[in-house]
Amino acid sequence: MTARVLIVDDFRPNLKMLEVRLLAEYFEVVSASSGAEALTLCRDGKCDIVLLDVMMPDLNGFDVCRRLKADPKTMHLPVLIVTALDEPSDRLCGLEAGADDFLIKPVDEIALIARVRSLTRLKIALDELRARAISYAGLGLADPIAAPIRQEDPLGRILLVEDRPASAERIVSDLGDRHEVSIEPRPSEALFRAAEALPDLIILSLDLENFDALRLCSQLRSLERTRAMPVLALADRDDRSRILRGLDLGVNDYVLRPVDRNELIARVRTQLRRKRYVDALRDNEQNAIELAAIDALTGLANRRFFEKQLFETLDRAAHGGRALSLMMIDIDHFKQVNDRYGHDAGDHVLKSLAHRIRGILRRSDPVCRYGGEEFLILLPDTPLAVAERVAERMRATIESTPFRLKADGAQAIPVTISIGLSDRGDDANAEALLRRTDRALYASKTAGRNRVTVSTA
Ligand code: GH3
Ligand code: MG
Ligand code: MG
Repeated sequence: MTARVLIVDDFRPNLKMLEVRLLAEYFEVVSASSGAEALTLCRDGKCDIVLLDVMMPDLNGFDVCRRLKADPKTMHLPVLIVTALDEPSDRLCGLEAGADDFLIKPVDEIALIARVRSLTRLKIALDELRARAISYAGLGLADPIAAPIRQEDPLGRILLVEDRPASAERIVSDLGDRHEVSIEPRPSEALFRAAEALPDLIILSLDLENFDALRLCSQLRSLERTRAMPVLALADRDDRSRILRGLDLGVNDYVLRPVDRNELIARVRTQLRRKRYVDALRDNEQNAIELAAIDALTGLANRRFFEKQLFETLDRAAHGGRALSLMMIDIDHFKQVNDRYGHDAGDHVLKSLAHRIRGILRRSDPVCRYGGEEFLILLPDTPLAVAERVAERMRATIESTPFRLKADGAQAIPVTISIGLSDRGDDANAEALLRRTDRALYASKTAGRNRVTVSTA
């Protein structure tokens, strides 16, 4: 598990110190010495997690955080605010600015690594969800699991394993208005309750009176039902070796006593959010099945999924006596694109071409990547004459706008496409329809490429 961590601090020695520690844990490090620079790096997608110093000239850490969280391009990036120990109000400001977590200065090594790891896990789950949402959009489907990303601050069912009544009460009063907290002072009972009630989060005191809390951690991790359950530990400041052992045993994060309310709220929120994302990913079996229908490179439907759509759509059109056209697109001399510009550039062209094709069509027209550089498009309720105009517009658009590797890139790759068109004819035979369309495409190729041919059969 690794991530690209952006460190933002106007004081160079701080940057250096954090960089050395993160590199030692095999994180990749990017640094910025001002808020403006940080915003640019984030918008350009140069990092996965942001570590923000509060005190900076011009834009301070809160301003940067607020802007990151307001921009759709960067709002998913977890942000860690680095604040001074004697400024608890900073933590409230950070929380209000949308920060995901805090680090206290001087930065403690264990805390740094634990927090960055915890946010890396969050980012990984989030990225996977986002990738799915994008694939679904490509298929023209609504994403059934996008909701957990949009939904804010989940209410969690929390099991608090704590045998000191005063501490337990404090925590309930800190979290009680947002979450459902039940207290279990007996560690032996805690394991059963966790396995039975499946809480969203366990908050575990590491210094229980007559029981080694670390044993409970390892029991939780070895039981199938509780293995993935997030655990947040409560620990004394000087209990470093136990904190370390706990993190090794699978504790996800910790909060030091005396517990700072805002810090606790932020850590609980991060753990709950990650759990919600992971649950959404795992629970949705249907999702996994449909995902197998998506071409990974272009996000379009794949051949298998499309053939199913073709049969169904053709059937419906034939029954209802409605028009249906099929369009087959093949990139001209695509092998030369790979040869001349490299395979990655070829991939980029395929991806952008898929995007352009989608943009020209109605949302409901099924599109698929049929083979390497071949695309098929179904046009329901569209007679051939209309389909021909759509195809011609497609061909002309591709020809007139070369593909650029980067938005500002000087290198432009000219690409043309050949298109074959056919309509459903009188019979509802998918194979015959595919064959006619393919023949029309072949005719475009032999006639010199970069053209549209309508099947006459
Ligand atoms: P034509 O005009 O006759 O269609 O020529 P062409 O070069 O496009 O056709 P050919 O079928 O000879 O070659 C297709 C090329 O597409 C070969 C293959 O390397 C490339 N290709 C197929 N799939 C991918 C892919 O996923 N990524 C990249 N970069 N290239 C691919
Ligand atoms: Mg080709
Ligand atoms: Mg081909």
